[in-house]
Order: sequence, then C-alpha cells, then structure tokens
Amino acid sequence: MTVLADICGYQVDLLVQGFPGKSLENGGLGWSAVVLLRGRGRVILVDTGSFSVRKTLLARLAERGIARHDVTDILLTHAHYDHMMNWTLFPAASVAICGAELDHALAEPIETSLCAELYVRALAESPQLRRLTPGAEALPGIAAIAAPGHTPHHLSFVLDDGAGRVILAADAVKNRAELLAAAGDSTQDGAASSATIANIADLWRARSGAIIVCGHDLPLLNDGDGGTYLGTRRAGILCWFGASLDDSRRIALSTNGDSP
Ligand SMILES: [Zn+2]
Repeated sequence: MTVLADICGYQVDLLVQGFPGKSLENGGLGWSAVVLLRGRGRVILVDTGSFSVRKTLLARLAERGIARHDVTDILLTHAHYDHMMNWTLFPAASVAICGAELDHALAEPIETSLCAELYVRALAESPQLRRLTPGAEALPGIAAIAAPGHTPHHLSFVLDDGAGRVILAADAVKNRAELLAAAGDSTQDGAASSATIANIADLWRARSGAIIVCGHDLPLLNDGDGGTYLGTRRAGILCWFGASLDDSRRIALSTNGDSP
C-alpha cells in the first residue's frame, strides 16, 4: 500500500502510479495516476484511469478489501479517456466532474478529441452524474480549484488541514518537469497552462511537506528545491522479438534501468 497522507479525515493512497512519458509511434500511452481516499464514511477515487488499467485497478482495490460496489464517490479531474473511462465500473458511486468540462467534452470534434465520446455521453445522461463548479467543495474537506489549460475546465483537488496539504493536480501539471518548468506539454491553451502550473506550484511550495500528485508521475514531496519523489517508480514492458513465447525481453521504463 502506498499511503501518502492522513489529512482532512481521509487516508490518501496512491492506487496506480502515473508515468511521465508518451508513446512516439503507436498512439497514446496514457498511464495516469489513480488516487484512493478513504474516510468520513466514504470510499473515493480521484480519476479512474484508462480502459487498459481496469484489471489493475480492480486488483489494487481488492488488495485493500474494496469491491467495486463499495466505491461511494468518484472525482474526475477532466474528461480525457485515460482519466475517466472506468467510471462505469462503479455503479454505487456518485460521479462528479466540472459541468462545463463535461459540456465541452460533449462538443469536442471526434477527430481530435482525447475524450471517449460514448463514455462521456453515457455519463452526461447518467443519474450518477454530479456537476461540479470550480471553487466549490467537491466533497467534505476537498476543494475543487479551477486548473484550466490542458483542458478548458480541468479541476484539481486540494486537501488542506492547516498543517499538511495534498494537491491532486492531475493533468493540470502532468509531471515534475512541467511543475519545475512552469510550462505544459499536450495542452489546449499553453498560456493558461503556464498560469495554472505557476498557481499550483505556488500552492505546493508555500507549505513545507506538501505533496503534489501529478497526472502522469510519482507523487512529489515539497522538501525544498525540486522536491523528492515518494515511492519507487515501477514501469516496464514485456516484448516478444523472437520466435517463441519463452524468448521475451523485459524493458524497464525508469531512469535508472532497474528491472520492471
Ligand atoms: Zn488529459
């Protein structure tokens, strides 16, 4: 288990790590962070990952004794496929997303959108839907802040008990490089992204011990300078370049080349 903090009545647990990279030749990679919050009688997921993470997501929940019907709330940061698709796994959950973000996703051109149109449409028509507005409390003790740029109505979520602070930034700040450079890759509005990243970086730097969970990276602790990653990166792929299933090769996707 990767418990990051106990704050505002919730245990904050990183369920699935994000990865700071994108595929060059074969379409999106989309390995995004999924965060679990437990407390105040709720089981909350912040984002739900892509379709490809479905088995992993359910296995990680099962390791914690959580069945999919136990999830009470989902907070979606934005409507991209790699963050929102698995909301359909959780029939008992209220599913909250910024109303304007959902409306924008519904209107996006199918050729260029990163939104899974059928999942977006199903959510718009679902009784599980709860429309959020920026600046409001998303759930007790969890603030929803406007974080435009990557998408026009992206929300980030902040927990702050006066001593600690946890920022669930998602794709407003996709990785450590974006945080430190105050600039975003893959954004619908570069200037808005830069302003949002600067704003969130200020929130993170203003509190020693603050933790930020970027959308596609490990959590980062503010202990000065560029911060320190929390946890060990685990990412890799298994390849069959030979002529038999036994002839496989593991390729670690980490800066130090450790085994995946
Ligand atoms: Zn995104």
